Amino acid sequence: MKFPVYLDYNATTPCDPRVVEAMVPYFSAHFGNAASRSHAYGWEAEEAVDFAREQVAKLIGSEPKEIVFTSGATEAINLAIKGVFETYSGKGNHIITVSTEHKAVLDTCKRIEKQGGEVTYLPVKNDGIIDLNDLEAAIKPETILIAVMFANNETGTLQPIREISAIAKKHGVLFFSDATQAVGKIPVNVLEDGIDLMSFSAHKIYGPKGVGALYVRRKNPRVRLTPQIDGGGHERGMRSGTLNVPGIVGFGKACELCMNEMEAESVKISQLRNKLESGVLGLEDVSVNGSAEHRLPNVSNISFGQADGNALMTGLNKTIAVSSGSACTSASPEPSHVLKALGLDDDRAHSSIRFSAGRFTTDEEIDYTIEHVLKTVKKLRETILL
Ligand SMILES: *Cc1c(COP(=O)(O)O)cnc(C)c1O
Repeated sequence: MKFPVYLDYNATTPCDPRVVEAMVPYFSAHFGNAASRSHAYGWEAEEAVDFAREQVAKLIGSEPKEIVFTSGATEAINLAIKGVFETYSGKGNHIITVSTEHKAVLDTCKRIEKQGGEVTYLPVKNDGIIDLNDLEAAIKPETILIAVMFANNETGTLQPIREISAIAKKHGVLFFSDATQAVGKIPVNVLEDGIDLMSFSAHKIYGPKGVGALYVRRKNPRVRLTPQIDGGGHERGMRSGTLNVPGIVGFGKACELCMNEMEAESVKISQLRNKLESGVLGLEDVSVNGSAEHRLPNVSNISFGQADGNALMTGLNKTIAVSSGSACTSASPEPSHVLKALGLDDDRAHSSIRFSAGRFTTDEEIDYTIEHVLKTVKKLRETILL
């Protein structure tokens, strides 16, 4: 076993060795600029990008032309929301999103508000799922975009995407979904799911960091976007800048592997997750956050009552790499906005741990984790009693 045991796959994943192998030739042997139309170096690179675009499109059921490569999901999210806001300003200025979205969505919406936009932040129920009646009630004539994530990164909770897209369609509003945690883990199909714009990222699915994509629907309806990065007109003018050819090749390979292996892999990973969960739930005053039913196969977000969050993390993180329910970006850690939105108080949010398993998680690692978590929590609770 390699220590610390990695159970933070929702933060990032290691590159699959098959992805690295596919990328290597594009660093030096085939180093061309995909936009160089006048010689073989460029053609070679362009061909590799075209092939990757097909691999990526296939995984989400889109046309290759509907894929815009970006530097990751954060950039794709910015392009989707800001691009729609600028293009459709003649129609309206209202956007609907959810309080449990990733910061990349929430902070982009805050920027929109500073620029004269209006944003409605829908609450969620205790299980992390939105109430569709709230969504429908929030729509008004000025609404131009509904932005709801496919799967939550902290809890794995899945939103009712098809119901949401049906409501958006009925009211003639565009639907953007941040599917960074869903793509590659569960079936995602932009046509069947009725999604108009969708962000996702290579490094969450065993591809390299620094590359992602925005899906932009080209018919029924044709979505128009104001570019946020201007320059050489790459990516049909929607995202200028020399393409990250090795990164894109790796992203394509990562998507192909998910396409072929997702079905069997998700069964295996959910078994490991379930084993971990039932092992830890043997403790008293322990609860799982978010919907247990509508959830990604690899995540379990667990609150440990009567245990100080800080001490819990310190006790665990030497041998198990996990994330906590606190955002440690500032000096005084803030409780997770996602867990707060589910109704957890600050203490409960702080003493929550996100376990996220993945492709390389082993049975042995799960056994170790259960044992170590049980030991650590019991020890902490004893010291509280003293
Ligand atoms: C990781 C993540 C992002 C950000 O993706 P990057 O590619 O790292 O910019 C956005 N949304 C969700 C749900 C994520 O999990």
